[in-house]
Amino acid sequence: MLNTEQQPITVNAEFTLGDAAHILLLLKEDLRRKIPAQVFNIFFTELQAEIMENELYLYCLNAEIEKHIHSQYRRRIQEIVAALGFSGAVHIVARKAVAAETAPKKSPTHTARSETAFPNKIDLNPHYTFERFIKGPSNEHAYAAAYGAAEKPNDYHNPLYIYGGVGLGKTHLMMSIGNHIALAYPWLKVKYCPTEIFQSDLIEAMKDKNLSYFRTRYRSVDVFLLDDVQFISKNAEYTQEEIFHTFNYFYQNRKQIVISGDRPPQALPQLHDRLQSRFQQGLIVDVKAPNFETRMAILKTKAQESAIPIGTDVLKYLATRFTTQVRPMEAALTILQFTAEHEQRPIDLQMAKISLKALPQENGIQQITIEDILRVVSRTLHVDEQLIVGANRTEQVALARHVCMYLAKSLIQGATLSYIAGAFGKRDHTTVLHADQKIRELIDSDAALQMQIEEMIEELKF
Ligand code: ADP
Ligand code: MG
Repeated sequence: MLNTEQQPITVNAEFTLGDAAHILLLLKEDLRRKIPAQVFNIFFTELQAEIMENELYLYCLNAEIEKHIHSQYRRRIQEIVAALGFSGAVHIVARKAVAAETAPKKSPTHTARSETAFPNKIDLNPHYTFERFIKGPSNEHAYAAAYGAAEKPNDYHNPLYIYGGVGLGKTHLMMSIGNHIALAYPWLKVKYCPTEIFQSDLIEAMKDKNLSYFRTRYRSVDVFLLDDVQFISKNAEYTQEEIFHTFNYFYQNRKQIVISGDRPPQALPQLHDRLQSRFQQGLIVDVKAPNFETRMAILKTKAQESAIPIGTDVLKYLATRFTTQVRPMEAALTILQFTAEHEQRPIDLQMAKISLKALPQENGIQQITIEDILRVVSRTLHVDEQLIVGANRTEQVALARHVCMYLAKSLIQGATLSYIAGAFGKRDHTTVLHADQKIRELIDSDAALQMQIEEMIEELKF
């Protein structure tokens, strides 16, 4: 039923796409980056797509999800799909047959009551466990704190507040706590809740004049995991108030509460003072962007978990290209897996470079690569790129090579010395240290070179 000829879908010049599966893949990746992971998981993981008579049909799991996507995400989806070059209509519909088959056999009134009052009942994602979390200097502190809370749920630092940038594993850690407790203490009830869902549940409950039911549900658990509190808006008086009371309830009853945000509580101006001070009452830990080694370990593990055959050179490329978040690394692996299957050839560096062009750079920041540095140095110092990466030892070539290493060391976030040495055909990482030292000394004595280097840095950064 795919109608690809009349509706060519083009994303960037190199990436020509042709069918519903492609649109779906890119749509999901786009949404995944824009909305909190758990919200995404509930509403979009199960999404399927089909194109009929030039119109795109997106099938979601059930009528509740359909309603929510319609009210909250319809416009965004249309924009994304249009940006992908698809100009036909977009329909979002529940998979009726599937929903009917899998729906639990309850009386109609009961089903209506529980589903409309709390459409967003959320289970813990079983894949988010401590075992699957890769530790490194950037996150071991947060890992230890989360593990502590999971081992001694009601007897640990309370609250535990985890903060850090998008995609650095906060939700993964929170869910690991939940999964660990569910196994180790099966009698304890765990509730994981993204703040966005807390707020929409509260609004529903208030519309239905059913606040007491809301409270009973939220307070009937022993461990409360509240994710992404930065999404509370300043004007959401009721939400702030209700979170405050919920917090007090858990705190006073010595029940574990874990909160996450993209910044520490004191740096979230939208939070009312009393919520800020409550959140600061316990242990505050952060997750930072993983370094190069940790990124390599994450990529390797994820590739293995999904049985994606991929060489170390491609993993290195990904670890250099994606430096500030983990999610785009996963997206990149998915796209590569898809491309390899589609083109029926193994994943290689060239495929990675071409097929990932469709993925925007992280936060709009272009990650500087060895190739960029080579290009700029070659042009500025008038030395051929091939000579720089070769074995030639003439003074001018050696200088250019040293400048490249110096720039790589200071500009490529997270690149190790051995990685840089390897890129220039050297085995020994101390070569990079010598080069770095040499250029630093030269800069002090050679004003012209200093200026050239500054210009190159400027050019590489912007
Ligand atoms: P956040 O909640 O901080 O935005 P997530 O927990 O949703 O980030 O992480 C984004 C994705 O990256 C998830 O699929 C998660 O499993 C993965 N991830 C992040 N950090 C790690 C890590 N240290 N080890 C393994 N996977 C990670
Ligand atoms: Mg999250």
